[in-house]
Amino acid sequence: MEGFEASIEPGTAVTLADGVALAEPVGAGRDASDYINHSCSPNLGMLDALTVRTLVDVGAGDELTCDYAYWLVRDDYEMKSDCQCFGSACRRRITGRDWMLPALADAMMRNASPYIRRRLDAMLKGKD
Ligand SMILES: [Zn+2]
Repeated sequence: MEGFEASIEPGTAVTLADGVALAEPVGAGRDASDYINHSCSPNLGMLDALTVRTLVDVGAGDELTCDYAYWLVRDDYEMKSDCQCFGSACRRRITGRDWMLPALADAMMRNASPYIRRRLDAMLKGKD
């Protein structure tokens, strides 16, 4: 697992199952997914494990943002710099454990990847 996690760009990793993620390898060139930045008040969420959807109307020229907690499960991940979204719910420090934050539970159950929703549901029921 350590070798696997060290070989992927965490901001791009959608965790699909324990030890399985869809991600870009470290050093991969830029593509469209590199332009979806983190926000604590995102306008994108996950429809399913592979599909990103809009949560609000998005206009031409609007920045596309997603909460990394919607797709990232990684105990050792911490975003390199504090979040700059400056929203009223901004967490500032973004980690790969944010999906477990109680304050995010409702949004996570609506907008996170299916894997994270299953983990969170099990955790909330005391099974994880
Ligand atoms: Zn923020």
